[in-house]
This record gives sequence, C-alpha cells and structure tokens, in this order.
Amino acid sequence: MRMSRRIEHLPPYLFVEINRKITEKRAKGEDVVSFAIGDPDIPTPSHIIDRLCQAVQDPANHRYPETEGLPKLRQAIAEWYGKRFNVTLDADLEVLPLIGSKEGIAHIALCFIDYQDTALVPDPAYPVYSVSTMLAGGRPYYMPLTEQNNFLPDLRGIPADVLRRVKLLWINYPNNPTGAVADLDFFKRVVEFAQQHDLAVCHDGPYSEVTFDDYRPVSFMEAEGAKEIGVEFHSLSKSYNMTGWRIGMVVGNAKMIDALKRVKSNLDSGIPQAIQYAAIEALTGSQDCIQEHNAIYQRRRDLVVEMLNSIGLEAKPPKAGLYIWAKVPEGYSSTDFATDLLEKIGVVVTPGIGYGKNGEGYVRLSLTIPDARLVKGLSRLAAWRSTRSRLLRRETT
Ligand SMILES: *Cc1c(COP(=O)(O)O)cnc(C)c1O
Repeated sequence: MRMSRRIEHLPPYLFVEINRKITEKRAKGEDVVSFAIGDPDIPTPSHIIDRLCQAVQDPANHRYPETEGLPKLRQAIAEWYGKRFNVTLDADLEVLPLIGSKEGIAHIALCFIDYQDTALVPDPAYPVYSVSTMLAGGRPYYMPLTEQNNFLPDLRGIPADVLRRVKLLWINYPNNPTGAVADLDFFKRVVEFAQQHDLAVCHDGPYSEVTFDDYRPVSFMEAEGAKEIGVEFHSLSKSYNMTGWRIGMVVGNAKMIDALKRVKSNLDSGIPQAIQYAAIEALTGSQDCIQEHNAIYQRRRDLVVEMLNSIGLEAKPPKAGLYIWAKVPEGYSSTDFATDLLEKIGVVVTPGIGYGKNGEGYVRLSLTIPDARLVKGLSRLAAWRSTRSRLLRRETT
C-alpha cells in the first residue's frame, strides 16, 4: 500500500503527542495536572441542553440535515451578529453553519488553494490554517507574531514576490495562543491590504465572547469593505461551552460562503438538527452564562498570572481568550521546559514551538481547568521553583 505524499508529510496534530504522554503517565498511576488543551471544563448551560433533549425526541430531526443548516439557525446567527456587532448579514447568502469552525477552516483551503499557491499564516497560530493549506497542495508563508509588534502581523514586510502567489490571508483575534487582541483600525488595514493585492481574508474569531475586565472585541465584519474581501469564522464552542457538540459558523462574503457550501455539500451531510436547535437556543436565549463563565476564567487568569510572575516567568494578563502565554525561563527551550515540568512535577503546559517557530521561548497555559486542579497545579509550580532555586544555589556555592 502506498499512501499519498500529503499524508506522509503531514505533521501529527499538536495535542495527539501531548495526550499520549499524559495517558502514559496516568497509566503508571501518576497524577497529572494538565494546562494543555483549550476545552472548557464548565458544562453547557442547562437551557441549551434542555432544548437539545427536546429536539432529539422529534423524528423530524432524525433524518439527513441540509448542508446549509436550518433557515432558523442561519437567521439566529444573522440576528446575533446584528445585536452583538451591529453587522447586517443576509441569512441565506452570507451565513453558513459549520460542524465546528475547525471543519470550515480546514475546508475553505479547497476553495482557494491550488497546487503551490500560498496562504499567509500567522506564526505562532492555531495549526489548522497551515495544515489545511498544505493538504490542499499549497504552501503557507509565515507572518511572525512577536511581542515587539503586539502579536500583529507586519503586512508591509511581506515580499512582493511572495504576494504574487498569495490567495488567502489568515488572521485570528482575540488570538490563540498569544492572547493578543486587535482593534478596528488593524482590521481596516487588513481590508485595504487585501484589496490592494487581490486576496481573500479569513478571520478566525472564536474568542470574541471570552473577555475580561471591560474589554469588548470588535468583529472583522465591522471594518468597512470586509464583506467584499473576506469572511469571519466563529463558534459556539468557546462562547457557550459547546466544544463537544461541534457547531460553529462562517459569515461574510457571499461568493466565499457559496464556494465553501459547494465543497461541503459534496463532503458532509450537515449538522445533526437537534444540535442546530440547541445552537438557536444558545444564540437567542439568555446570554447571562457568558458573563458567569468569564468571571470564572478571569479569576483563574489572575491566579495563574500571579503565580507565574512570582516564580519568575513573565506573563501578562490577556484581555480575552482562554490562554496565558508565558515566557520560559532563561536557558530552556519551550520543549525542554514543558518536558521538565511534566517529568518533575506532573504539570502539562503546551510548548510554544508547537504553534510555530516564533512560539519558541513561550509556553501556553489554558484556563479551562477546574479550580481545584488549577490550585494544585499552581502549588506544584511554586514547589518547582523552590527546588530549582535550591539547585541554583548549590551550583553557585
Ligand atoms: C478552539 C478554536 C477553534 C475551533 O473551534 P471549533 O468551533 O470547536 O472547531 C478555531 N480556531 C481557534 C483559534 C480555536 O482556538
């Protein structure tokens, strides 16, 4: 049997390897505290689950769904965008529900990328943007996100010969993994850049509702002209703790939405309808759960940042998202540091290099860990620090 080159060259998904290590340790009876994956630990709110249970009972929802989703769901998404961002969307032409946003993010590459075409991809980033580009036969060109540029790509720094081959530009704010945010001014510059160079823009924004203090992110769709050149991916996963139900959406440019619909109608058969009804309930029902969840994450954010800083790891409290992006101590690579924490104290963090070359020097800690586990993990970090300073003292004396 001979596999395709596309499969042979595919790197393993970042968390597959991390989960393997955790399972191995746990099988040995060791207690592992994981700050690795961004998967909300808080259950889906009960009014959403109630609606789902009710919809499951209806035989009309036992049959094949339509690729484009229930009209009522598309309407609910359009109305939510109107209420939340003051953005007007045509529910039939500018909205498409997805089987989780990851699914749409992966498939849209097929709408733009031919053999050896280029997509501009941030580095570090959620791995799917580059992997989907490669699966489609194209090449990612990495745009460094660094602390000096506030983790925003330097669009002017992209060479002209690269730009000629670019079909697609990926951005993601509030950002995973860096926790950075972008304002409307940045989005406007992205629109101008895309118009100038005739590219399509995909903005991935699943963290727009996971916010702290009084921060309220804008949507890429609020930038003038955004709908002419781009789309925004969004998800119910992080806003409503619905990662396990697999439902998200893409909104914006009708031509792009139509192309993705054409790909999807040939590959999948839509989202189970009961889950679509649950999503309608999430988007149109009480939004109180969002603030309740954010208060929990914000408390965790403060605890984690405070502990990291107290043991000498530099980390800033993010304005949004589920992650702390922390600098590793001097003398460590991100992988060495993550391995050291796992081996010595049974704590899992994600090495920044897993998100790209420019993630080196950082680790990511997720706030989606129950309070008691979080406190346990933090006290282990404090203990790690004291053994390390004892070691250092011994070395210097
Ligand atoms: C979690 C996440 C997603 C995927 O969300 P789903 O809708 O659950 O597939 C997409 N992009 C980023 C940056 C994420 O962190």
